[in-house]
Amino acid sequence: MKQIKKAVIPLDLASLGSGEGDSKSWQVQVQLPAPIGTDDMAVPAGETLDLQVLAVAISEGVSISVSGCALAKGECVRCLEPVEEAIEFSLSRIYYYPDELAHLLNEVSDDSSVYADLDESYQVCPDSRVDLEPLLIDAIVPQIPYSVLCSPDCLGLCPDCGIALAHAEAGHHHEKIDPRWSALSGLFDQEGEKNA
Ligand SMILES: [Zn+2]
Ligand SMILES: [Zn+2]
Repeated sequence: MKQIKKAVIPLDLASLGSGEGDSKSWQVQVQLPAPIGTDDMAVPAGETLDLQVLAVAISEGVSISVSGCALAKGECVRCLEPVEEAIEFSLSRIYYYPDELAHLLNEVSDDSSVYADLDESYQVCPDSRVDLEPLLIDAIVPQIPYSVLCSPDCLGLCPDCGIALAHAEAGHHHEKIDPRWSALSGLFDQEGEKNA
């Protein structure tokens, strides 16, 4: 089995009883070590999130629920102006004790569909800590909106020069020359140069 991943956003479970059903809740503030989201829209690295965390001891490990809200930042898909969108997230996953996880991974090696979400990043480290980052990623990514607009009637970019039409002068447009005549207009320019 791979080395236990270093706890990036550690949560200390030392004060959680190990009896089945023992539970504890926390209000924690975490700073994201890396952005969570898509290339277009993400909760940026360094963002501080206020989280409600509930841990419940079970026989194989600890069931951890996390919920909170965050500000996803990205670009309007039409005009590329910066946009922000508040998202809410909430998810529970089981963090296994390392020996339980090794046992389960061994057991399911033939039939990986049984525990499709069995993941080595979800385990209780020997120092009673868990890394909340994988749980946050799984909770936040599905909430990241796609195709965000800066406003529902965003005008987008000028197809000819690429300027954001919201910032362009009223009636912004370009004189269009029929492509069949553009060759001729080139001729006229050359004539003009000769005569100058
Ligand atoms: Zn826009
Ligand atoms: Zn233009």
